[in-house]
Amino acid sequence: MTNLFDFNAQSNHFAVMGNPVEHSKSPQIHRLFAQQFDITLEYDRIQVDAGGFDQAVSHFAAHGGTGLNVTVPFKVEAWQLCGQAGNRRSARARHAGAVNTLRFDSGPGQHRVFGDNTDGAGMVRDIENNLGLKIAGTRVLVLGAGGAVRGVLGALAGRGPTSLTIANRTATRARALAEEFGNDDNPMNLSTMHLSGCGFDRINGPAFDLIVNGTSASLGGELPGIAPDCLGAHSLVYDMMYARRPTVFMEWALANGAGTVSDGLGMLVEQAAESFYLWHDRRPDTAPVRHALRDV
Ligand code: NDP
Repeated sequence: MTNLFDFNAQSNHFAVMGNPVEHSKSPQIHRLFAQQFDITLEYDRIQVDAGGFDQAVSHFAAHGGTGLNVTVPFKVEAWQLCGQAGNRRSARARHAGAVNTLRFDSGPGQHRVFGDNTDGAGMVRDIENNLGLKIAGTRVLVLGAGGAVRGVLGALAGRGPTSLTIANRTATRARALAEEFGNDDNPMNLSTMHLSGCGFDRINGPAFDLIVNGTSASLGGELPGIAPDCLGAHSLVYDMMYARRPTVFMEWALANGAGTVSDGLGMLVEQAAESFYLWHDRRPDTAPVRHALRDV
């Protein structure tokens, strides 16, 4: 782990900031991407204490840092930082209300910050390109109403499903999220897509084409508590969490008739590829990196 105040000035210096970050796979992923283009880079993990995020970013930029990934619990703080005078946010970051990628557009001393959110694009790319489900014309169910779900709703809606249902343990949060994303400041094409929010108990058949688990239930080995009749043989069940073994939600889905299940490792690699593209203007081949991480 890097000491925050002990940077060597480097022109291609990146890091992931969060708390905790010791298990982050981002350094490994970005080094593997960089090898594909013979790019020399430094990529560290920086653990930041609560209340120290803005200062940590300033120090990193002032010492020649080029870009940062931001993870739990600082994505909203990163979004706020990028809203300050002189800084900028991408449209997808503005809509998500969260930033996971920072790029410092000027040299040391000036560091204007550009913030992006690559989580949604990464997940959609994994689902469409790697798992082969085209989202256009499908019925999509998203479970959860926290930061992870905020980050992917815009990208999912942008692929043109006929319906997007957000269901959450606390139903009011799901309804509020659907209202927020359906308003004029955060436009979704509601002429061709039905957007709604509800509690888990309101979800029943017919089976959805795509079910995304964006709750943190799997972290504790728990199930989100939806009825199995929302699953069918044509359903792709996608758990945003990843682990060495299939998550409990993936196992439950397979046991209850889902055709295909996946964890979120592909999303992790694809969102990293989007960040890499933002920093280096090159799109890495993600397949060998996904396979390398699975083999570890
Ligand atoms: P938040 O804390 O912001 O939100 C947690 C959500 O999970 C809430 O909707 C909460 O419901 C729900 N929840 C928590 N426990 C349970 C439970 N036991 N049963 C049902 N619902 C539950 O977390 P995040 O949104 O930041 O993260 C969610 C998941 O997404 C994590 O597992 C994280 O690892 C994953 N993730 C994966 C990424 C990837 O690249 N693959 C990227 C980002 C996140 P309520 O509102 O009722 O409290």
